[in-house]
Amino acid sequence: MPNYENFPAANAKYVETFDKGSLPLPPSKKLIVVTCMDARVEPAGQLGINLGEAHVIRNAGGVAKEALRSIVISQRLLGTREIALFHHTGCGMLTFATPDLQGIVKGAAPDNAEVAKHVDAIDFLEFSNLEESVKSDVKFIQEHPLVLENTKVTGWIYEVETGKIKQVV
Ligand SMILES: [Zn+2]
Repeated sequence: MPNYENFPAANAKYVETFDKGSLPLPPSKKLIVVTCMDARVEPAGQLGINLGEAHVIRNAGGVAKEALRSIVISQRLLGTREIALFHHTGCGMLTFATPDLQGIVKGAAPDNAEVAKHVDAIDFLEFSNLEESVKSDVKFIQEHPLVLENTKVTGWIYEVETGKIKQVV
């Protein structure tokens, strides 16, 4: 059965003890966490972040460039002032190069020019070295003209094998 069919029952259970309905919109820790969409990454538990305390921006890899739109909204409209960027061991982003994925997508729709046009326009922003990717993403954030100047930016690696975090920047 599709997963969504479990949602109502799971939600009913959640609602039984839910008492956080009056939290303010701006994150109380003024914190943004940028991290991967990986199913083994769970920032709330792994970093001790509670409901209402931080913006967690997730995408494939936890890539800063893709997170930028959300960072600007978070900083300028909702008052966040600190950014912690996480990449993690065993990340899928370490396993392919953009042309490979473009080839997979195009191969599944041969002779479809629309598909080719759209997928060829996407840089999937993969990386090959974790520490380097964290450093370059932190640098990207620190140097970006749309990110507030006094933002405290740190860079981290999360280990899916141990649950441990390591600060890189
Ligand atoms: Zn990942």
